[in-house]
Amino acid sequence: MIYPIVAYGHPILRQKAADIKSDFPDLQEFIKNLWETMYATDGIGLAAPQVNRAIRIFVIDATVLAKNYPETTGFKKTFINAYKINEGGDAWLFNEGCLSIPDIHEDVSRPKRILLHYLDENFDEHEEWFEGAVARTIQHEYDHLEGILFTDYLSPMRKTMLARKLNNIALGNIETKYRMIFPRSKKQKR
Ligand SMILES: [Zn+2]
Repeated sequence: MIYPIVAYGHPILRQKAADIKSDFPDLQEFIKNLWETMYATDGIGLAAPQVNRAIRIFVIDATVLAKNYPETTGFKKTFINAYKINEGGDAWLFNEGCLSIPDIHEDVSRPKRILLHYLDENFDEHEEWFEGAVARTIQHEYDHLEGILFTDYLSPMRKTMLARKLNNIALGNIETKYRMIFPRSKKQKR
């Protein structure tokens, strides 16, 4: 099942997502649907709050970046109850986009590495450092669990320049190839 994507301006994108237990109802079905939705929308990653569920799950398939970022080769993972333990390395710029913020791509500065504690889809525990473009996709999706969006990192001037575009997204005044939930519009795009 392909879920509609929650658009910028929706309160769930500002909520802190909750941990889940292994007996969470229909969890494997939900994860399967997350993958299906991510691929259908050409996303590299997708976090549960983006499909209107405030729970700590995100999925990433960064393999499309492998040509320019070899560290992403074969990188496909489900993250449950993830928590950032540490971050490090030099900050670097990467051009980010987000399924919830269509047609906006901006350079964002983040540290090169992240240490994450998380469970995989079998609820096996992991603590792992990730680097480069892999770290970047994780940092972006992880932020969704904390109610943070990549536009939050932009300079005040950049934010001012994008304000109208962001408002139009919230209003649903935008064309997307995928179905979305627009917080300030009654109409639902198909
Ligand atoms: Zn995003």
